[in-house]
Amino acid sequence: MINFDVQKELGYYSDEEAAGPIEMHHIVYRSHGGVDHFYSKIALPAGFHKGNRGPHLNKKTDKALKEAMQKELFAAFQEFATYDINAILTILQPENKRSREKICRQMEKTKNIAGEYKAEDIVRTLMGGRLH
Ligand SMILES: [Zn+2]
Repeated sequence: MINFDVQKELGYYSDEEAAGPIEMHHIVYRSHGGVDHFYSKIALPAGFHKGNRGPHLNKKTDKALKEAMQKELFAAFQEFATYDINAILTILQPENKRSREKICRQMEKTKNIAGEYKAEDIVRTLMGGRLH
């Protein structure tokens, strides 16, 4: 889960927004190529998640979350010039076999040199094929 303080960055929740159970939002929608991993989600109260200021209805919120996720991914992949698939999976910590396999499939289609990937190419793939 990314470390992004919604209320600090986007303003306090109204009572309506703060209401309801906590839900996991996929920052890059699965329909846009998003996959499950440590940096792919954020917990939001249901009222905010589904509300007018939430990421599904508000472009500014959606953009802020995507930019925060991208920033964290670049920070997570800043140590080395390139990463192989095992290093990528170690960093991303996919929760289950299905997520792990989806990441592997996406990385197979990502630019690499003998199985070594540059951070920018990894992050672009994880962001759904484009940088924000
Ligand atoms: Zn959502």
